[in-house]
Amino acid sequence: MKRIGVIGGGQLAWMMADAAKDLEIELIVQTPARTDPAVGNAAGAIIAAITDAKATEQLATQCDLITFENEFIDLESLLPLADRGVCFRPSLQALEPLLDKYSQRSYLQKLGLPTPKFTELTGDRLSAILNAKSGELLPWRFPVVIKTRRHGYDGQGTFILKDLPQLQAALEPLSEVPLLIEEFVPFERELAAIAARAVTGEVVVYPVVETQQAAQVCRRVFVPADIAPEIVTEIEAIARTLLDSLQAVGVFGIELFLTPAGKVLVNEVSPRTHNSGHFTIDACETSQFAQHLRAVSGLPLGNPALNCQGAVMVNLLGYEHSHSDYADKREQLAQIPRASVCWYGKTESRPGRKLGHVTVLLDNSQRSQAQAIAQTIESIWYD
Ligand code: ADP
Repeated sequence: MKRIGVIGGGQLAWMMADAAKDLEIELIVQTPARTDPAVGNAAGAIIAAITDAKATEQLATQCDLITFENEFIDLESLLPLADRGVCFRPSLQALEPLLDKYSQRSYLQKLGLPTPKFTELTGDRLSAILNAKSGELLPWRFPVVIKTRRHGYDGQGTFILKDLPQLQAALEPLSEVPLLIEEFVPFERELAAIAARAVTGEVVVYPVVETQQAAQVCRRVFVPADIAPEIVTEIEAIARTLLDSLQAVGVFGIELFLTPAGKVLVNEVSPRTHNSGHFTIDACETSQFAQHLRAVSGLPLGNPALNCQGAVMVNLLGYEHSHSDYADKREQLAQIPRASVCWYGKTESRPGRKLGHVTVLLDNSQRSQAQAIAQTIESIWYD
């Protein structure tokens, strides 16, 4: 029986703990609150901030290796543990270029991988923009996108700004925060790919999916994406180049833009399992969570292929402040043919919070059917 420590105890660790049971792996999570989703189904938990290196040191004494559920870690404070022989998978070196969005874009650029145009927003340029009377100082025309370099998620820390007054208003409270400014990509679609790399260097890539976000939060995932085979090949090559270059071990989520001209740009790389890969639990031979555990524990990778013709995954996002468990709605959702409802067991709902998801398997890859099912799910969930 292997014991794996997981830094983070949210829904991703909760789903990983389920996958662990089948692989005879015990997970111990390090997470700030006893009410966090994974505390209930992991084999053990250390209740501490994920940046608490002392707690991680204690975690390491109980586990064979340590992996990550999210990237909001304090890398510096973990380095001495790695020096003393604690095994992190993926390694801290693999995580290092990815944790900050500016470093991540720079790393992708260095590898020759396509990204939106971007630059840092610091000191002189920032104050010049704050005091500007026109947008001439900007590297690109409006709209532009501002991102906080660290700790962004679900669109928090991402601002799409249409004109100078909007930009200045957004920047005002962020003057002390490290920022990135980038071109707005008028994408035709957003795509995502989950890829895994084993200790041996073997890489597998799951079917490329289309994601749809509202207010910068993922709402729906369509599987597989309706794109030309050459685009799939291009995305698989991007995933391989990136994971090989990082010497990554584990599952990584890669989000991309497809432009109207058919160009692929990498938007974001997450060094962990990803929301766009939740469909793999029901629709693939190996779920992304089982795959991650296989990769980090040195097992051969599992088959990433679909076990059906297609699927649609819809996130159940909070739409009110409440402590309800929404049992009635979940019951209704479960009645949809070939639907699996995954409920994260969070004790508190608030607008935009990811509370669960529904995956429905399809016997074709027709978008119209998938869209109709997504609408049915959303009309039950959001009334
Ligand atoms: P997060 O870390 O919060 O997931 P992302 O960089 O993925 O932040 O941005 C969230 C969403 O915002 C994206 O899925 C996309 O819809 C939109 N977005 C982000 N960057 C751009 C951009 N440069 N051009 C157009 N839309 C963008």
